[in-house]
Amino acid sequence: MAEAPNKPCPICGKPAAERYRPFCSRRCADVDLNRWLSGVYSVPVRADEEADDLPLAPDQAPPRE
Ligand SMILES: [Zn+2]
Repeated sequence: MAEAPNKPCPICGKPAAERYRPFCSRRCADVDLNRWLSGVYSVPVRADEEADDLPLAPDQAPPRE
């Protein structure tokens, strides 16, 4: 079966492997899964202007020099 369309991996853009379609590797499949689990898709909270209510966690503050 050589007719399988080789779509690029949605994560890294490499040709997808048949075993891990639509990804190129297990690693990229895991990356996609983690995105789902971490709610990136369902809760699109980005660094846009809308997230002004969220206080900056101390961990995220830039290190002092
Ligand atoms: Zn990939």
